[in-house]
Amino acid sequence: MNQELGKKLLSILKEEQVKKDEPMKSHTTFRVGGPADYFVTPQTAEEVAKVIEACTQEKVPYYIVGNGSNLLVSDKGYEGVIIQIYKQMNQVKVEGAQIHAQAGALLSMIAKRALDAELTGFEFAAGIPGTLGGACVMNAGAYGGEMKDVLKSVTVLTDKGEVKTLAKEELELGYRTSVIAKKGYIVLEAVLELQKGEKENIQAVMDDLKERRVTKQPLEYPSAGSTFKRPEGYFAGKLIQDAGLRGFQVGGAQVSEKHCGFVINKDQATASDVMNLMNQVSDKVYEEFGVRLQPEVKRLGEF
Ligand code: FAD
Repeated sequence: MNQELGKKLLSILKEEQVKKDEPMKSHTTFRVGGPADYFVTPQTAEEVAKVIEACTQEKVPYYIVGNGSNLLVSDKGYEGVIIQIYKQMNQVKVEGAQIHAQAGALLSMIAKRALDAELTGFEFAAGIPGTLGGACVMNAGAYGGEMKDVLKSVTVLTDKGEVKTLAKEELELGYRTSVIAKKGYIVLEAVLELQKGEKENIQAVMDDLKERRVTKQPLEYPSAGSTFKRPEGYFAGKLIQDAGLRGFQVGGAQVSEKHCGFVINKDQATASDVMNLMNQVSDKVYEEFGVRLQPEVKRLGEF
């Protein structure tokens, strides 16, 4: 562990914002992952920029996390600095039909504010358990809606320390991708453009989608949602099911019996269990159908 970096981090942030050897299982919805050398929770864009500058000076890698709901961290942890943009940067403001929110705001929280302001268009995102930052990076979507439909602009921090506001057209939003991911930008805040709606209708759509998630998805177990991307012309869950892998288990990790597109942490799984399971599922599906599944879940650290 780089002690010099530790001192620099403490000159930028308060003591309670800097943790050493922080178990990443506490910060991912999969509930797996070893310790991060440093785990920091900046409260402002300036603090984020300064932390990155310190990491660059000390030649120590860094990685941004939001709610860790699309993330598999190695059992060995992460040799570097995890910068969490979540509860410390989660302000949400409604202005007319626009919502201005910081990257750390949960989608569910933004959806609640949209409902209260009788704004429609964001119902699809209410049940996605991530932050606005994580959702912008991968153009998160569900039930026919995606971030692309509602984003007006995103303000990012570049690797050169510049703050830029990108209009929707510049974001190159595609299926689970964006220019933000391609260029390694950090999302600081975003503006959503919604429409005026009827509160009861908005609530009814949210309730319906919630019900569908609860019945179809294994929300009673830790997971990172859909484990694989949807291959062109197929559904990952259906391919996995047709390959006979429903309930297939490696260690504590399992292909959910309720929804084959989800790998769940059934019983104290390790990251290696999850990874081995994913590899075996991917190989078996390829063998059976000639389709190579690509992980949707981001992997971090050494496997
Ligand atoms: P994290 O998991 O913390 O990070 C994911 C990636 O985004 C990482 O590469 C990270 O570096 C990057 N990132 C995070 N924040 C920032 C930032 N501020 N700036 C730059 N990069 C950042 N996803 C869907 O799209 N649709 C669904 O319907 C859906 N359903 C889910 C259901 C369940 C039960 C679970 C557990 C997950 C589901 N997901 C779904 C996956 C996940 O919630 C989304 O992908 C979400 O957008 C990830 O946000 P996060 O804050 O948790 O990101």
